[in-house]
Amino acid sequence: MNSKKKIKTTCSYCGVGCGILADVNPQAKVSVQGDPEHPVNTGMLCSKGMNLHYVVNDTSDRILYPEMRWSRAHARERVTWDEALDRAAAVFKSLIRKYGPNSVGFYISGQCLTEEYYIANKLAKGFLGTNNIDTNSRLCMSSAVVAYKKTFGEDSVPISYADIELADVFLIAGANPAWNHPILFRRLEKHKEKNPNVKVIVVDPRKTDSASFGDIHLQLIPGTDIILYNAIGRRLIETGYADESFVKNHTENFQAYRKQVMETSLKDAATLCGITVDEIKEVSELIGKAKGFISMWAMGLNQSSIGTDKNFALLNLSLVTGKVGKPGNGPFSLTGQPNAMGGREVGGMANLLAVHKDLQNPQHRQDVADFWGVDQISPNPGYTATEMFDALASGEMKAVWVICTNPMVSLPNLGKVEKAFTNAKFVIVQDISHRSDTVAYADLVLPAAGWLEKEGTMTNSERRISYLTKGINPPGEARPDVEILCDFAKRMGFRGFNFANAEEIYEEYCAMTKGTNIDISFLNYDRLKNEGSIQWPVPAYRHPGTDRLFTDKKFYTPSQKAIFNIPAQIENTSEKISAQYPFVLTTGRIRDQWHTMTKTGKVARLRTHYSQPVLEISQLDGYIYKIKDGDVVEVKSKNGIVRVRAKISNSVRNGVVFLPMHWGKQLENDLNRANNLTFTRVDPQSKEPDFKYTTVSVTKYQKP
Ligand code: SF4
Repeated sequence: MNSKKKIKTTCSYCGVGCGILADVNPQAKVSVQGDPEHPVNTGMLCSKGMNLHYVVNDTSDRILYPEMRWSRAHARERVTWDEALDRAAAVFKSLIRKYGPNSVGFYISGQCLTEEYYIANKLAKGFLGTNNIDTNSRLCMSSAVVAYKKTFGEDSVPISYADIELADVFLIAGANPAWNHPILFRRLEKHKEKNPNVKVIVVDPRKTDSASFGDIHLQLIPGTDIILYNAIGRRLIETGYADESFVKNHTENFQAYRKQVMETSLKDAATLCGITVDEIKEVSELIGKAKGFISMWAMGLNQSSIGTDKNFALLNLSLVTGKVGKPGNGPFSLTGQPNAMGGREVGGMANLLAVHKDLQNPQHRQDVADFWGVDQISPNPGYTATEMFDALASGEMKAVWVICTNPMVSLPNLGKVEKAFTNAKFVIVQDISHRSDTVAYADLVLPAAGWLEKEGTMTNSERRISYLTKGINPPGEARPDVEILCDFAKRMGFRGFNFANAEEIYEEYCAMTKGTNIDISFLNYDRLKNEGSIQWPVPAYRHPGTDRLFTDKKFYTPSQKAIFNIPAQIENTSEKISAQYPFVLTTGRIRDQWHTMTKTGKVARLRTHYSQPVLEISQLDGYIYKIKDGDVVEVKSKNGIVRVRAKISNSVRNGVVFLPMHWGKQLENDLNRANNLTFTRVDPQSKEPDFKYTTVSVTKYQKP
């Protein structure tokens, strides 16, 4: 009998959300290929996606059964699921009784499926009585969430990938999609190949592959983005490209915007940004004349102590030109993780509630409480990612449950994160791999099912919901995350967690969306399985989904007008360059690695692109500081040290250095970790860390 089975699923890496066909044969290894029928990738996969099967087939690193230690003096030992979850429930009950519900918290992930996100939030906010549940998506797109909400009234990405083929001018800001969203970028490349009139402008302090592809690269000084976008806004107004009718009828606060952009001359702006006035004029002209203008951005804007303000300044360019709500026009934030968007939908952050409801709004809290059948949702804001680890380090929080993420590599200021874990009374880590550095700090390790081993849904960058099929059984005693959380909830004595499967959880969430702007109450698993992925909202039976929002120019604000938000600060001044720390360090990703390498790091062919982390430094700086290509350099900030090899590169500006963020202690040594250097400094509005701006020194390392 041929038991070979081909299933449709979605790539588990980035927010592009490519469709995958996986061969799952119990007698053979899993193999994958791009799904030719999937609207996102039409059969293409990038280097990470096409090697996903190696991650599934190699189970040598997998956590196979629960492990627990009875005290820090003991090593962890294998326990049964009953012992593990009974202990977890006993510890949580005891801590909550003694110190209150805010003594515990969850730190989860944009790689969690929507059902997992939903159930973890229901558990924490509805039943444990704490809003201490945040996600690693806080580290990558929370600035965009705040900006969308304040501009459009809700966290809503207005456009689709299909708009790419309808646009003629693209502004890629603080993003390198050629490496980090490759299949989306391939779509842009194809569009440009077919249409030579298409122009791509890239704003980045580094000359990335995306910048090399672009027609214009504005290699600005780090932290000056708002000055640039305001200068473009000024030029658009002065040259008559503002859409006066749209601004008058569909926006608020234009005069305040006008006032701010007029405060800085183009000449001053160009000097501050390190570019030329002609470049600002040329870019403004292209945007002003564009039939279709799309801005795309990612971490370069979001990961900043002024990240929300940077988002405002970019979004304002779409508003002033009226280029939103029309085919081929609109702002488009690129999500880094596969289900960062799904997490946002179900309120998967410390300051959010499901279906875009607001934790600060008493009526919204009551709506959610009524839906879950609980008395109330706590009005106290929960700790956001960095705040949570600060609270653990200071002893304010006693226990943390980490799900599907590796904060011992990915959070800023790793010295403090280590202190937080050491100081916590109880640490639970629920994950698939021993390759996560965080596992070492766990009192209780819970083995989770991974990609292909469970079912559920995810939403990609363009609001497209995909169903992920279970194709194989998880190894050992690993269980789906929703099953683990519901089992724990029942042991806590909570009702409302008696779900037979992920589908029932999804249906509960769908019912909650009814009548909201993200209504998917008519989108069930059967439809997703039979028809494939669909973009929300899907507000009626047989509704085809929504590719573009705001086509009626009615935004989700009380006045139905979009709002020009005015940046409070136009330049990142969180640190000053000094003689002691003369460089600005930016951290980021490389083409073939994903986050903290717990999956991609075990695929040999993905390690050939970069086998180790290297610090990119300009030729002139190498000459001045007597650093040659391949030298080991010591990079120091006020916070810590990194020791890596230098790469003399023409891709960074003088005075700027770049270091990838993927490497952790377990994989190499602790002096490889970029986040030894970074700070817990965050944007006051979004609480997103300032990863793109750390002042450092760089010296050639001499062995003592
Ligand atoms: Fe996966 Fe993203 Fe690559 Fe597509 S572009 S295959 S979603 S990593």
